[in-house]
Amino acid sequence: MRVLAWILLACCAACGRTDGRPNVLVLVADSLAAGHVSSHGYERPTTPNFDAFAAAGVRFSNAGAAAAWTLPSVASLFTSQPQEAHGARDDELRLSGELPTLAERLRNAGFETHAVVQTPVLGRRTGVDRGFERYDVLDFSLASFERALELARSAFGSSSAPRFVYVHVAPPHMPYQPPAPYRGRFSAESESLAHVDGSIESARAVHRARLAPDHPDVVRLRALYDEHITFVDARLGELVRSLQAQANERPLLIVWTSDHGEAFMEHGEQGHNSSVYEEMLHVPLAIAGTGLRARVEPAPVSLLDVAPTLLELCDAPALPRAEGRSLAPLLRAESFDLQRTLVASSRHYEGKPERWQVAVRSGRFKLHAWPGLGRAELRDLDADPDERADCSAEHPDVRAHLQRELERLQAAFVASTERRELSESERRTLRELGYADDGR
Ligand SMILES: [Zn+2]
Repeated sequence: MRVLAWILLACCAACGRTDGRPNVLVLVADSLAAGHVSSHGYERPTTPNFDAFAAAGVRFSNAGAAAAWTLPSVASLFTSQPQEAHGARDDELRLSGELPTLAERLRNAGFETHAVVQTPVLGRRTGVDRGFERYDVLDFSLASFERALELARSAFGSSSAPRFVYVHVAPPHMPYQPPAPYRGRFSAESESLAHVDGSIESARAVHRARLAPDHPDVVRLRALYDEHITFVDARLGELVRSLQAQANERPLLIVWTSDHGEAFMEHGEQGHNSSVYEEMLHVPLAIAGTGLRARVEPAPVSLLDVAPTLLELCDAPALPRAEGRSLAPLLRAESFDLQRTLVASSRHYEGKPERWQVAVRSGRFKLHAWPGLGRAELRDLDADPDERADCSAEHPDVRAHLQRELERLQAAFVASTERRELSESERRTLRELGYADDGR
């Protein structure tokens, strides 16, 4: 039957009609926290373009990254496995070669695959390039951001085969340096605090001083980040609209999201990497394309669900042992029971197992665990969205259930340790981006 299906597909392509499978774009804006997105209720008008895009499709208001920093989060996006299982949980560890990826599956199903990543954190030696026929790695500069947009614009050529394109842009990742006319939009009143200039050093200074979230330096840093968001939102909006206008008879499916959030001292941290509080995990996620009915979906979902969803929508074989689930029935507005637990974790700091944090979520409840310390607290995200209180005593059954889930997940983690060598220039770049020796 499968052979017959392929013959039919080939005939359709030959006679100029498409096979119904979409072109797919996965668009990731690095470090875009959902809490700073207007359609998520943020008070500043940071994201009119994301909001308009999402309003025409399905916006997931409760989407979480699987990890609090770039490499493991993207590896999870492609494999539907948590970082403890896929192995790419450190700069010097590779994605396990045993796990098939979204790009591999789509390429094997006849898609042409192309990635444009504007961050050396996702360089080829990480293994996340597996399955991409073309994989462009660009640096963090503004010129490279423009180049990434250009490459994305030309990635959907006139080929008769469907395409899978992954575009990962650096902004609004720090340094928060929005160009004109975005610079000053929210930060003009604090011009006198010129020492907070959005550079990585100024962000680290805020962190080191353990400033409160309402300290003027933190307020200014947040305003610069918001301006940076407004900049990337505008440019990605232009990209999306031009691709949608170019779309031919093959439908274009676009996933617009981020790899993790960004903290501004809500729980004593600035930036990302180090915790599983919502400011570091909660990301915007919207999927739009032909045939999707516009709606907002409040059920908790994970970036682990993206690969299973796309594979189903593209009629490609599923990933084995996926931790995520296909959201395709939700996109089709079919009734669908999404009761399950979701896992996410922070960075693994070598030699500091006590700093590793894991979140296990079910509905409104989230177990926030520090496995290296043997400690965990239960949060009720509806009653306590700022995650201040441990409600284990009020909900002992939930606590016990999530604790068992944590133990199940830990037992299922197959630690992969495929190492890679970092070059001196990679080490330097990672340090400049605030990644390496981030022992804070
Ligand atoms: Zn990132």
